[in-house]
Amino acid sequence: MTSTLTERPGGGGDAAPFLSVTELSVRFATEDGTVKAVDGLSFSLERGRTLGIVGESGSGKSVTSLAVLGLHDPRRTTVEGGIRLAGQELTGAGERTLERLRGNTMAMIFQDSLTALSPYYTVGRQIAEPYRRHTGASRREARSRAVEMLDKVGIPNPRLRVDDYPHQFSGGMRQRAMIAMALVCDPELLIADEPTTALDVTVQAQILDLLRDLQQETGSAIILITHDLGVVAGAADELLVMYAGRAVERGAVREVLRDPRHPYTWGLLASMPRLDSAVDTPLTPIPGAPPSLLAPPPGCPFHPRCGFTEEVSGERCRTERPTLPPGRGAACHLTEGQRGRLRGAPR
Ligand code: SF4
Repeated sequence: MTSTLTERPGGGGDAAPFLSVTELSVRFATEDGTVKAVDGLSFSLERGRTLGIVGESGSGKSVTSLAVLGLHDPRRTTVEGGIRLAGQELTGAGERTLERLRGNTMAMIFQDSLTALSPYYTVGRQIAEPYRRHTGASRREARSRAVEMLDKVGIPNPRLRVDDYPHQFSGGMRQRAMIAMALVCDPELLIADEPTTALDVTVQAQILDLLRDLQQETGSAIILITHDLGVVAGAADELLVMYAGRAVERGAVREVLRDPRHPYTWGLLASMPRLDSAVDTPLTPIPGAPPSLLAPPPGCPFHPRCGFTEEVSGERCRTERPTLPPGRGAACHLTEGQRGRLRGAPR
């Protein structure tokens, strides 16, 4: 498979991508200084495809999704660069435009359904409200749409359960209800931020299967944000690995997992349990902690944690920022030969 983040599924390629993010930069003003949460991020995504964005907490993946949805507070956040969705520029768009697009053309599934759903309203009402707002449907029509959506996401007895409150649902059912709420207006772009983190493994697989089935039905584009490479392995087509607010590796999921090229991706893979290793095989965490984004390290942002700097010449890693080439690639100074020799070597 040779697809890249910029290819169209059918291999065409001359039309503009459905979602195109170009040199995105997101900065927060804090009392301690400016946090560069996202720095020069570019990617694109087509309808019917899923992009997995992977990285540790603070890598900028959730900040990116909030920027696409236009949910940052403009009083303390600066968003620069281009975000084009279906030909429309979203950076700098007015709140009314974004409000019209959110929940309609683009929607989000949050990690914690108990926080995202209001405890004071029935599940059905919370699914029906955005539908009424965006389509002008009557109460009766919106309620019947809520029942239809609950049925679609696999809630048994939807006609009865539509009047339940969130606390009457199990964790997996609440996550399904949140998916129903996000999909009620048939959005073309769905952003799922750690949608299965709070769920046990069986329910996690069911939710990912459900998202895939719904995508096949509707042809929506999905951004799947997670810290878990195991989640994207079966659910995404393309992968973007983020570190310290920047993309450090990208490519088709299968290619990145088969032939990872960045020492940070190697570290993520080494820290994951594998089905084909002995149960007592120790996991290897990445040493150190992600850098402060108030003062990111110069050169390669991963250099304080990387065990391979001397292969390059430590000085270059500490002073020269590696760039991510277009298409499949990694932002790292190691040569292809060095990577082949070093991958899997102890750090
Ligand atoms: Fe490690 Fe240097 Fe590559 Fe950064 S550029 S990942 S520090 S080898």
